[in-house]
Amino acid sequence: MDTDTRQRLRATLEAQQEDLVSELRALGADPDSDKVRQLDSVDDNFADSASATAERAEKLALIAQANERLADIEHALARMHEGSYGTCERCGDAISPSRLEARPMSVLCVECAAA
Ligand SMILES: [Zn+2]
Repeated sequence: MDTDTRQRLRATLEAQQEDLVSELRALGADPDSDKVRQLDSVDDNFADSASATAERAEKLALIAQANERLADIEHALARMHEGSYGTCERCGDAISPSRLEARPMSVLCVECAAA
């Protein structure tokens, strides 16, 4: 992968990372704290009623999803930092550029992701 492509994909990943961090903040989670990624701070904002419980469950699901996406992005950025970005984590083959363009956080080639 050439340097320009890598730079561009890194910028995309960093922009997505920022969006997710803002999303987590908006949901009441503190993305800077690993502990609250598991959400203790969200509790205080909810009254103890059935609808609050449902609302809280929904919010926790959104937070969990955002955390998962954030973890994928951070993982890809870490691999970029190590220099292993763009190679499949499982088989070691190059991940196709079109796959990386479509999904820059990919760490598996198409074959391994499908397996
Ligand atoms: Zn593979």
